[in-house]
Amino acid sequence: MSEARGSEALKLIYDYDYLLQRLYSRLPARTAKASRFELPKLMVERIGTKTMIRNFKQLSSVMRREPRLVMRYLLKELGTSGNYDEENGILVINAKVSSTTLGNLIQRFVKTYVICPTCGAPDTKLERRGKAWILICEACGAEQPVPPL
Ligand SMILES: [Zn+2]
Repeated sequence: MSEARGSEALKLIYDYDYLLQRLYSRLPARTAKASRFELPKLMVERIGTKTMIRNFKQLSSVMRREPRLVMRYLLKELGTSGNYDEENGILVINAKVSSTTLGNLIQRFVKTYVICPTCGAPDTKLERRGKAWILICEACGAEQPVPPL
């Protein structure tokens, strides 16, 4: 009888180890996924009444989004005008904006238009279907309607 109880205890320990192992085996993948997606620090420069993001092209390419699309979002949120200097990869905003404000807006853009809400992966693309904008995840296949840009 005590033998039976002993093997029962062993089984429990095994199950516990197994669960722990499974848990840990999943953790590194998530961490790797998150660290793979690192936005570059914004290089913001203000000249007079204008604000420039010097590494705008690089920023957009890390997010895998068209710079003009990201620009449209930022200008709409800021309620101002601006233009994208394609040759130099610089965004020029016709207003004084702090780098904190710009950083927050980019974070919001990433949350809404880049990160998959289902699995958290940044490997997504935006697709236009008529008037609808869909965020499609290449990692898990989820499709999520997002506000039009
Ligand atoms: Zn996903």
